[in-house]
Amino acid sequence: MNIEKQYLTISNYNRPGTKRARTTAVACHYIGNPGTSAQANRNYFENLKDTHTTKASCHYIIGLDGEILQLIPEDEISWCTNQANSYTISIEACHPDSTGQFTDATYKSYVALCADICQRWGLDPQNGGLIRHYDVTKKVCPKWFVDHPEAWTQFKRDVQAAMAVAQQEPGWQHTDIGWWYMYDDGTYPANKWELINHHWYLFNKDGYMVTGWHRWDGQTCDPADGSGDWYFLDNTAGGPYEGACWHTRENGAQEIWYVE
Ligand SMILES: [Zn+2]
Repeated sequence: MNIEKQYLTISNYNRPGTKRARTTAVACHYIGNPGTSAQANRNYFENLKDTHTTKASCHYIIGLDGEILQLIPEDEISWCTNQANSYTISIEACHPDSTGQFTDATYKSYVALCADICQRWGLDPQNGGLIRHYDVTKKVCPKWFVDHPEAWTQFKRDVQAAMAVAQQEPGWQHTDIGWWYMYDDGTYPANKWELINHHWYLFNKDGYMVTGWHRWDGQTCDPADGSGDWYFLDNTAGGPYEGACWHTRENGAQEIWYVE
């Protein structure tokens, strides 16, 4: 996601320059002026410092090609959502015609931007973290999301899905130190055997998968007193079975242990 910062000049007509005490939602809008560009609307807001015709602005504006302009730092107030300005980050979006439906490119950027903001500010898109201008004042804005409530529901769902993708997937994780394994709840095995994809892996006290010869006394990997039984964990660095435990066949030969 590419965001171009074009901050407005501080003036009481567009960017008051004051910080917001709290941030509990992203306020979604549509520009209401079909076919206009993000840049043209940004310039309109900027010129209000001279024209004084009204007080208006937004934190972000998304253009017809999905381009994103940032007009105000996120922690400052914008003049966009009436009484909700004190607790919202506001997003305006351009649209080609009077239905207010967004282009695919605009929609994609809108979802990505909302997901990013919700992630960083700890907002839940499906539980009040995303609101429409309409929800604050009953103004028909964003028009497409007011006329089509199911599209608004889908939008919030899409933002939630985008946030999930951005988060780390559970499973094997690699760092400079080595491999570790993340469970679905974000925790990891340490001083523990784990059966993963038909193979046994041993994790040391720091939660890293061990390779080569190691001891296990029933509860600790490589106990300090030198006790425990010896196990061999595949040590072919970068190989498909690295870390998988070997065992002895009936005839005494060694093989990687496969567990049905
Ligand atoms: Zn609005």
